[in-house]
Amino acid sequence: ALTIGIAGLPNVGKSTLFNALTRAQVLAANYPFATIEPNVGVVPLPDERLTVLAGIFGSERILPATVSFVDIAGIVRGASEGEGLGNKFLANIREADAICQVTRAFADPDVVHVDGKVSPKDDIETINTELILADLQTLEKAVPRMEKEVKIKKGDPVLLAAALKAQAILESGRTLFSAAASEKLDLSEIASLQLMTAKPFIYVFNTDDAGLADEAMQAELRELVAPADAIFLDAKFESELVELDEDEAAEMLAENGQDESGLDQLAKVGFHTLGLQTYLTAGPKESRAWTIRQGWTAPQAAGVIHTDFERGFIKAEVIGFDDLVEAGSVAAARSAGKARIEGKDYVMQDGDVVEFRFNV
Ligand code: GDP
Repeated sequence: ALTIGIAGLPNVGKSTLFNALTRAQVLAANYPFATIEPNVGVVPLPDERLTVLAGIFGSERILPATVSFVDIAGIVRGASEGEGLGNKFLANIREADAICQVTRAFADPDVVHVDGKVSPKDDIETINTELILADLQTLEKAVPRMEKEVKIKKGDPVLLAAALKAQAILESGRTLFSAAASEKLDLSEIASLQLMTAKPFIYVFNTDDAGLADEAMQAELRELVAPADAIFLDAKFESELVELDEDEAAEMLAENGQDESGLDQLAKVGFHTLGLQTYLTAGPKESRAWTIRQGWTAPQAAGVIHTDFERGFIKAEVIGFDDLVEAGSVAAARSAGKARIEGKDYVMQDGDVVEFRFNV
């Protein structure tokens, strides 16, 4: 499964956030394919549509899609030079498919900040600098080798050109992910180089009540990290929230003026940032969301349920979630002409409720 690495300076609330994530973890018994490891938190992707489907179909249980988070050792200034946990940190971060940077935006004078002052902007710069330096080191080794290979017609000139462009961006102090769009750098061209700042980023600002209410501060930080997504949450509050049952948690959130927990927001943003989407299946046994990549076709989607479904794919009966809800049942949706029969080239859309027909 694709994973999101949680990274940040020491003492910013990473462990607090990660512990909340692991307590929100899905039951392993329902997800026999998910290997549960100590440094991985597999959380459900909130999806209100599943509850609605379970009502229509009388489903016994609901199985949401999941999002996996990995705890990454704390980064420190000098990590790219192998300081402290540097090397382990860099290895962990290379393995993650997206990076969630946790930054401290809570005041609490009792909690020491490694650099002596609370400044999310400076923290982000410290981390980005380490990642940029590490990527530059990778390129300083790779580029001369690629140049030699291209000279003797063995290398890939497209890869070399993209690597040189990446190097220039990094030397100007920017991450590849943030500069890719404006610099027209095709990140897929340099995927083989496994550069860290080319991964999608998510920023979590760990803040307090004052911060959650401070819209001007939030707007400023959102702009700073764009095009990456920003989430503002109170890790301590989130860790208390996961201890409560559903009703109590909803009440606590409402009291706090929030309609969704920070963990739920993080799961949704993380899932999207990984380039994933879901389709839905429903029946008396279960209503379930299945994870696919954006742009996948119907047979590829069927393969997620079972590889035989992909090999023996014939067609898919697809009803849009909203159409199904409006009709009230599959039969009613069919008679209203809302059930579409789709073939092997159909590209799956978010909210498709699907039944596959296949040969075994
Ligand atoms: P890590 O080093 O990044 O993993 O940080 P920890 O999660 O261990 O948190 C460091 C300290 O900050 C601990 O004493 C936490 O209780 C405290 N802390 C974490 N999140 C919050 C928060 O949202 N508000 C406040 N006031 N303290 C927090």
